[in-house]
Amino acid sequence: MGLTNEQYNRIMREYEAIQDENLRELHRRKEEIDRLLPEYESIAQSSASLALQKLKARLEQGSVEPDTNFMDIASKKKALLRNAGFPETYLDPIYQCKDCQDTGYLVGRTTQDGQAFAKTKCHCFIKREIALLYENSNMDNSLLSSHFRDISYDYRDGEDLRHLKSAVMQAHSFVDSFETEYQNFYLMGTVGTGKSFLSGCIANALIEKGYSVMYFSSIGFFDLLSRYSFGQKNKEVLYNYCKNLYNYDLVIIDDLGTEMTNSFVSSQLFDFINERHLRQKSTLISSNLSFEELRDRYSDRIFSRITANYIICRLTGPDYRLISNGIR
Ligand SMILES: [Zn+2]
Repeated sequence: MGLTNEQYNRIMREYEAIQDENLRELHRRKEEIDRLLPEYESIAQSSASLALQKLKARLEQGSVEPDTNFMDIASKKKALLRNAGFPETYLDPIYQCKDCQDTGYLVGRTTQDGQAFAKTKCHCFIKREIALLYENSNMDNSLLSSHFRDISYDYRDGEDLRHLKSAVMQAHSFVDSFETEYQNFYLMGTVGTGKSFLSGCIANALIEKGYSVMYFSSIGFFDLLSRYSFGQKNKEVLYNYCKNLYNYDLVIIDDLGTEMTNSFVSSQLFDFINERHLRQKSTLISSNLSFEELRDRYSDRIFSRITANYIICRLTGPDYRLISNGIR
């Protein structure tokens, strides 16, 4: 989904506000110049009427020569501003982004075979879009700073290293084929083996590509669902929030099994996983539960959904956070 309509409108309102602000500033500058340099206005007026006369004459004569008179006037105006201590461009239109002129879109570009793009998002729009996707991802600072480029293979060897390399490769492939293939990811491993870090790598890589990601700790996720199901306050707000969760391109449930599991949790988890599956929307679950524990703690139907529809990766070894911090 990338941005929701509401988020898109929020960005477009920002552009409108920038355009308004820039127009106000330009107006203020024009008034300032009117006051301080009255001769500027008289040159501007004479240049406008001269330009009109010249244009008529040139149309009649079919001339394509540059209008030297008009160019003289333009340089006179610049000199006037410069001599009074203003930049030459002081009264030019003001844009924060010159490429799209603060509209968010590039228009009039053509492909190599001459086809025109209807509308292309400007780099400044994409930057705003990504910032908004991050802002709404619910990720904390440690997740936000998890990147594939920072993965370290130090401190691991043998099976542990093999598992990590395989999981990283699968995670890359998950991200690379996200556009074309519906896939889910189940990351299992004990505490400190890097599950959350790898989840963060995937989340950041997808957000950078413009996908919407929502992160939950397992405890936070079920807390939200129970507030929605049993709470009386803000029911409508929570309803819309939960409904919207089905639209995110990726939802992450981190550390499944750390919540207080009961029949409510089990049925909510199944409904959520099932609904996301029906909508072909990807889910990433990380857990320190073994397959047996997963089946025993939740239900056969959750177990079979996950084993049938998820890429399953296992991370192994001791708590590497302690080792890499030099505690051991
Ligand atoms: Zn732009």
